[in-house]
Amino acid sequence: MYLIKNAEVYAPESLGVMDVLVGGGQILKMAKDLPAEEAYDVEVIDGSGKVLVPGLIDAHVHILGGGGEGGAKTRTPEIMLSDIISGGVTTVVGCLGTDGCTRTMSNLLAKAKGLEEEGITTYVYTGSYQVPVRTLTGKIMDDMILLEKVVGTGEIAISDHRSSQPSKKEFARIVADTRVGGILSGKAGLVNIHMGDGENRLKFLRYVLKKTEIPASNMLPTHINRSRALMEDGIDYAKNLGGYIDLTTSSDPDFLDPDEVKASTGLKTALDEGVSEDHVTFSSDGQGSLPVFDSHGKFLGLGVGKVTSLYREMRDAVLTDGVPLTAALKAVTCNPAALLKLPKKGRIEEGTDGDLVLADRKTLEIAVVMAKGRVMVRDGQVLAKGTFE
Ligand code: ZN
Repeated sequence: MYLIKNAEVYAPESLGVMDVLVGGGQILKMAKDLPAEEAYDVEVIDGSGKVLVPGLIDAHVHILGGGGEGGAKTRTPEIMLSDIISGGVTTVVGCLGTDGCTRTMSNLLAKAKGLEEEGITTYVYTGSYQVPVRTLTGKIMDDMILLEKVVGTGEIAISDHRSSQPSKKEFARIVADTRVGGILSGKAGLVNIHMGDGENRLKFLRYVLKKTEIPASNMLPTHINRSRALMEDGIDYAKNLGGYIDLTTSSDPDFLDPDEVKASTGLKTALDEGVSEDHVTFSSDGQGSLPVFDSHGKFLGLGVGKVTSLYREMRDAVLTDGVPLTAALKAVTCNPAALLKLPKKGRIEEGTDGDLVLADRKTLEIAVVMAKGRVMVRDGQVLAKGTFE
């Protein structure tokens, strides 16, 4: 058991300075002053001068690797445990990407199981970019009902030259099947939607909201910050239709495409324009392929998107863009938890999972990461390594 003493708790709402007792993988108790001697075999972690926040949820990670768009040699490698936990992320949703041929659902599920065995919490989406959706059992609904880790469908590509160019009706059918699969399995039934540069932007999502009874909470369009025009459409969609939007964090902030919006700045803009702080999420798009530049901006080759960018953009939102800590945390904790219907995730309260990040109050530098009650990072050093690290 661990007793975290005198930390300023952000649940993500600010709760002030508290002690938090973690045991059996869960948050057991929270109070202003918990005596250490109350529990047998308890290790005290000093939280003074630090904030305690929920472990981050990354709802879009290519855990198997992604890429391959420059030929087979550009397929990115599988993710390792330390790539995830070093950035304070304790829950990931794995997905396939452009390549639904050599990357398969069975492989994705096995990788997700492996990461879970190594200590974090994992889920997956069924499908890839393509429509009809490639599934394990043959149908979205069956995958949702029969496979425990499947919480939705994605990433389905629309408004993109790499998309299967589904019709509006085909797209609505995917959302409907995912929703009903979610209802029958007691899961979220969320469709993660890859947004490309196309001029249709969020037209298909507007169509679903207008022509069907499906609520906005079954759809999460991602890469909304890839262009200013899409960002503007996303803000309108969230503000006027109650939609949810997801900003991607893994682009190198020093060499953003001139039209791309840094995720932290995108969050600030969305909030300033009146989008509810409950309707914006961040995800990393981690382990996908990413161009790498030298300090002069010269293209060096391909690298791999980092899950750690999720924490970086949350921190930059607070320290650089002036977003309140609670609002920035929501985008990476309770908001994705609500959309993914994960009641034990994304919040610090008695009975939720022991997924926690302890960070410096001023710099937000990570000191401790705990996943399901186990210390994975301590003094900024990764203690828990993956099987082949
Ligand atoms: Zn994508």
